[in-house]
Amino acid sequence: MSIKSNIEEIKKELNPLGVTLVAVSKTKPVEDILEAYEAGQRIFGENMVQELLEKQEKLPQDIQWHLIGHLQSNKVKYIAPFISMIHSVDSLKLLVEINKHALKHNRVIDCLLQVDIAQEDTKFGLDHPEVIELLESDEFKALKNVRIRGLMGIATNTDKEKEIKEEFYELKMLFDGIKLSYYRKEDSFDSLSMGMSADYILAIEKGSTMVRLGSTIFGKRVTKHFKAK
Ligand SMILES: *Cc1c(COP(=O)(O)O)cnc(C)c1O
Repeated sequence: MSIKSNIEEIKKELNPLGVTLVAVSKTKPVEDILEAYEAGQRIFGENMVQELLEKQEKLPQDIQWHLIGHLQSNKVKYIAPFISMIHSVDSLKLLVEINKHALKHNRVIDCLLQVDIAQEDTKFGLDHPEVIELLESDEFKALKNVRIRGLMGIATNTDKEKEIKEEFYELKMLFDGIKLSYYRKEDSFDSLSMGMSADYILAIEKGSTMVRLGSTIFGKRVTKHFKAK
């Protein structure tokens, strides 16, 4: 299977469902990304800022880059000029920093709040009360150059389907609750980023609107999925 045919197959699956595909290209060379690009893919996800910057420079400028990995506050300035969406916002402090740099570039940056839904404690993210606390805070309400588009979560890396489904369901319930309480009138709160190669079918079943697929498109990576901090 080629990257092109993988993209075509997956699009055939996702398009009728209205689910957005983020092609996760971390660790993959620009040639692979170009092949996906030529198959029509425009949204690509990376998890490391340095790698993202190197690729962004070399590749077509109409690519929409999504940052899906943990973001340190001191790196926000590098991606602020062009980043299309940040999936991994896990603190108010980070959001304040994103807002500051977005303002410098006269942009509004789309963000997702990353929610910790997994059983493992290796994952980043906010818990439910922290999400609410953030949304309720005056400091957050004053930010004009970030736009919360929804939530993101990573399920436990397990083959127990029931557990994965419960985690996705929990995130969907939180998403619906926040939508009702805070964004009822805003169509822009529309993105629920959940599902990776191993579990995206379950995620869509539970209401995902955006899946992040790497190995299904580009083949296995040599490095591990989750690097240590
Ligand atoms: C690597 C990664 C993915 C894609 O993983 P695959 O299993 O290759 O689909 C999705 N989301 C995040 C946050 C990742 O780090």
